Amino acid sequence: MPAPLDRTTENPAQLPDLVVRGKRVVTPEGERTAAIHVRGGTITAITSYEDTPAGSPVHDAGESVVMPGLVDTHVHINEPGRTEWEGFSTATRAAAAGGVTTLIEMPLNSIPATTTAAAFREKLAAGAGKIWVDVGFWCGVVPGNLGELRSLWEAGVWGFKCFLVPSGVEEFAHVGEVDLRAALPNLAALGAPLLVHAELPGPIAEAAKKIVNADARRYATWLASRPKEAENEAIALLVKLCREFGAQMHVVHLSSAEAIPQLQEAKAAGLPVSVESCPHYLVFAAEDIKDGATEFKCAPPIRERENREQLWEALEEGVIDFVVTDHSPCLPTMKLPEEGDFLRAWGGVASLELRLPAVWTEARRRGYAVARICEWLCKGPARFAGLEKQKGAIAAGRDADFVIWNPDAKYLVKAEQLQQRHKVTPYAGREMTGVVETTFLRGRKIYDRGEFSAAPIGHVLRRGDA
Ligand SMILES: [Zn+2]
Repeated sequence: MPAPLDRTTENPAQLPDLVVRGKRVVTPEGERTAAIHVRGGTITAITSYEDTPAGSPVHDAGESVVMPGLVDTHVHINEPGRTEWEGFSTATRAAAAGGVTTLIEMPLNSIPATTTAAAFREKLAAGAGKIWVDVGFWCGVVPGNLGELRSLWEAGVWGFKCFLVPSGVEEFAHVGEVDLRAALPNLAALGAPLLVHAELPGPIAEAAKKIVNADARRYATWLASRPKEAENEAIALLVKLCREFGAQMHVVHLSSAEAIPQLQEAKAAGLPVSVESCPHYLVFAAEDIKDGATEFKCAPPIRERENREQLWEALEEGVIDFVVTDHSPCLPTMKLPEEGDFLRAWGGVASLELRLPAVWTEARRRGYAVARICEWLCKGPARFAGLEKQKGAIAAGRDADFVIWNPDAKYLVKAEQLQQRHKVTPYAGREMTGVVETTFLRGRKIYDRGEFSAAPIGHVLRRGDA
């Protein structure tokens, strides 16, 4: 018999209303053969594979992996206001099809941006009845909204996001050190994390002078326009402010590997700093991106192969805590597919449905086991968002959210089959390994080999409700 059984919340008088079992169940103790007992949407026990009480329906995953539902803490849904780019229904269906059962939505690029309590109410109203997975919300710190932070926090947002460079949309202005110095004592007092788009304008302005005559169709031009220094210097500022104010700081979408040593040092010193990176920085390399291929444009940019290898080392060492998508779609025309102009095209990579195969294909090639990517895709982001009591692990007391997937099956990304509103993605036509078969949300099957449940059953996740 493997490992001690977990029956801490099971009431022997009540039968499970679902048993999910398999040969490869990923529990906090590692991968094992097990049966998961579920009642009322919650995991009540992890038992031996044979322990299936008569009368309880059984879903047998066989040789496929049973992992906690994925948690993606970096998703742009854009509704209300830019619903033509992406919306609650299409994004959360993409999530379900990709094995993602929980996502936290970013406060831009919807209109209004989620920077006031009134805007948050509009956001909640826009999503009502449309969400296929559980959804929580980040709100924004922008110049002038200090007075909103407490009411947003009390309304149940999970934390705050800010930009240190122009965000690309006028409703979400960026902040500078002066604004941060005003906001951070408030955030520290609330205990709210600040998620930061860490690039500074100075190095980008310097870089712009050097590329005035460069060919905007070349990927190298885009790469040169967003130098590593912009990230490195922004992260140095954040670490300094973190030390000074003690607020929890989170670096979103780390791309520059040159910033890793200072993050490592800050973490070693016990500062409350956390770091995410994205699949596209871990999969692609600048050297391979063709001229005009603006579907690869995002900021900070996908960098050189050597930089990518250093990001993998940082993931291995735990300097990068987890991997989330930064799913950020737009209208296909905004990618300027005809001109292929990297400087004028909208930046953002859409990949909400593809995170599991994208990360697994690379991780497997590098010798990692399934249990390790569970930390990066499920447990790490759940812990960061403050959802660890509910999400991110297969353990008694947690929500019965599962992704069942085949880690050996190959998969050719057919863009037209993706659930996201528009089918533009740099993963189109790429062969990857790892196929999502079935997704359960709180004990209910929401996706099964191309088919969805009859109606969306996602919940809004508010801090303080659990
Ligand atoms: Zn983003």
